[in-house]
Amino acid sequence: MAKYLFEPPPVAALPILGTDALYPVARIFCVGRNYEDHAREMGHVVDREKPFYFSKSATTLRRDGATIPYPPGTTNYHFECELVVAIGAPAFKIAASDAERAIFGYACGLDMTRRDLQLSERAKQRPWTLGKDVEASAPVSPIAPAAAIGHPRRARIELRQNGETRQKSDIAELVWSAPELIAHLSGFYHLGPGDLIFTGTPAGVGPVQPGDKLEASIDGVGALTVTIGAPQ
Ligand code: MN
Repeated sequence: MAKYLFEPPPVAALPILGTDALYPVARIFCVGRNYEDHAREMGHVVDREKPFYFSKSATTLRRDGATIPYPPGTTNYHFECELVVAIGAPAFKIAASDAERAIFGYACGLDMTRRDLQLSERAKQRPWTLGKDVEASAPVSPIAPAAAIGHPRRARIELRQNGETRQKSDIAELVWSAPELIAHLSGFYHLGPGDLIFTGTPAGVGPVQPGDKLEASIDGVGALTVTIGAPQ
């Protein structure tokens, strides 16, 4: 058997409620502008014809309780609180009506964003990589299996910064639901176990400072607490 030149990077993984097993993460897909009020605060109207995506590396994943460093290259690092869908079965070109069977579970995550770079990249019609695929920018709560909590269609989603509520909405406000996103995305990818989908954020996104405590929660799904660390 061939040897690796160096030790392979550790597998990114999330705890699962109710079991000691970990959910190993393969890919992180993220949806843009999936709540009408957030699209508006970003200066857009929602495109109801089709969703759009960007991605984060699996290595950006962090767990509940993590300290997230304030990254280099930005002076406007933002939180975005989101429902995260964890895929648990192969899904390729499947219908929305069939998509829930591909969902292992749900979690609450933060899509941390260099807003200044995302917006300057967007203005130049360049990809959002520097704005979105930021090291340690994807903290996610433990995964709640659908077998335990079902498939939530309404639930309060909330982000508190140092105890103050900044984002408050309901996942019923999603423009594209989890099954609709899986149906669309599975037309382009062979989705499978280990794939996460960040489903987009409601209005109220804002900047963080070193030392901030962020508490994200989705009723009946999960909760996540992270601290913003020193600038790098
Ligand atoms: Mn987002």
